[in-house]
Amino acid sequence: MEDLNKTPGLFKDVQEMVQSCIQCGTCSGSCLAASVMEHTPRHIWRLVQLGCKEDVLNSKSFIYCASCYYCTLRCPRGLPLTEAMAKLKEISAKSSQKKHKSSMDFYKYFVKSVCRHGRVNEVELMTNYLISTKNPVTSLKYAPLGMKLMGKGKLSFGNALKGNGVLDVLFAKVKEMEDRT
Ligand code: SF4
Ligand code: SF4
Repeated sequence: MEDLNKTPGLFKDVQEMVQSCIQCGTCSGSCLAASVMEHTPRHIWRLVQLGCKEDVLNSKSFIYCASCYYCTLRCPRGLPLTEAMAKLKEISAKSSQKKHKSSMDFYKYFVKSVCRHGRVNEVELMTNYLISTKNPVTSLKYAPLGMKLMGKGKLSFGNALKGNGVLDVLFAKVKEMEDRT
C-alpha cells in the first residue's frame, strides 16, 4: 500500500544534500530533461528545502532525471544532485507509489537485464516491462517502434549477447553495500 511516510529518513537525507542550495538555477539551465519536468531541478530543491514532500513525490520531475550528472558537475555549491534525484526515486519505490509504478517497473527490469547480460537486452527489457503493464494497448503502441528497430538490426536477442556474468562482482558488491544500510 502507498505510504509516503514509510521512509522519513531518506527524505531528510535529500534535504541535507541540498540544504546549501542558493537557487542560482544552474542545474535547471543544464538539465536536458527540465523542459518536460513539472518542477525544474532548482524548483525541486526549493520544495525539498521547504519540506514539501508530497509536492515533490507526486510530480514526475525526478522520474524524468536521466542521471546524466550535468547538474552535479555544474552546481557552484558542489551538491550531489544526481544522487539526490536517485534518492527521490528510491523513496518513491519504497513507498510503493502507484503513480510511478510503471516507471519503477521499467527501472527494475532495466537493471535486471544489465545484471543478467552485462548490458541491456532490449527485447527482454521490453517484454518484461510490457507484461508488467498488463495493458495490451501499451504493447500495440510500442509495436511500430519495435519493428523499426528490428529492421535496422538495433535489437539484440539473448543468444547474441556475450557479456553474461561480467558484472556479477559489481552487482554483488552493490548488494552487500545495500544490505549494510
Ligand atoms: S545549481 Fe546548485 S546551487 Fe544552483 S540552484 Fe541548482 S542545486 Fe542550487
Ligand atoms: S542528472 Fe538529472 S537532474 Fe541533473 S541535469 Fe541530468 S537529467 Fe537533469
